[in-house]
Amino acid sequence: MDYTNSPLVAYTRLSPNHSGQRTHAIDRISPHCVVGQCTVETLGEIFAPTSKKASSNYGIGKDGRVGMYVEEANRSWCTSSNANDQRAVTIECASDTFHPYAMTDAVYASLIELCADICRRNGKTKLLWLGDKDTTLAYEPKEGEMVLTVHRWFANKSCPGDWLYARLPDLAVRVTAALAPVVRLDNTPSAWAKEAVDWAVGAGIMAGGSGGDLMLHSPVTREQLCVFLHRYRELYGKM
Ligand SMILES: [Zn+2]
Repeated sequence: MDYTNSPLVAYTRLSPNHSGQRTHAIDRISPHCVVGQCTVETLGEIFAPTSKKASSNYGIGKDGRVGMYVEEANRSWCTSSNANDQRAVTIECASDTFHPYAMTDAVYASLIELCADICRRNGKTKLLWLGDKDTTLAYEPKEGEMVLTVHRWFANKSCPGDWLYARLPDLAVRVTAALAPVVRLDNTPSAWAKEAVDWAVGAGIMAGGSGGDLMLHSPVTREQLCVFLHRYRELYGKM
């Protein structure tokens, strides 16, 4: 497995606090709350001393900038669980110091972007929030699936805080939407067909897909041909 790091990283200060190369492929993301509205530089300071025995792969500062402290290839010391951190990319997010540990809009926007990037680079097409500890820890992700886990399942902590915890279903949906392939509309007719296409669309004989895609260069099935002819007959009277 070739591991890569996020191109979204704006600041790097590698921490000595990690276990070397991970022993499990990445199939989890664990977002945390820092309990402090800090910058990525401050997080780097916190993770620098070996005495601290703490780190995360990434951090997001209060302004939304992304920092890296442990390369994605390596197992960070973040979630109080060897089993989790061997397979999870961990992200510390700047937050308030008090319940519900709210985060800025900039942090949340960057978290969505960073999670989508991590999924993409690790061959995942879906981010899942399964809702509870037992279901999640028993779940074997299928091909293309990334699963969210939280620190509070592994230690007596409120991390990632109720503010982010309540948004995890939204995070999963937004990241999965960002991973969906972009539909390219095939709506530009060739010069020789333009007049006929404009007429067929204008008259309602050809409507295209629900997303407005006319699929101009795709073949027509026999049933679609019947629908076109039927619409024509409805328009111009029984023949
Ligand atoms: Zn945590």
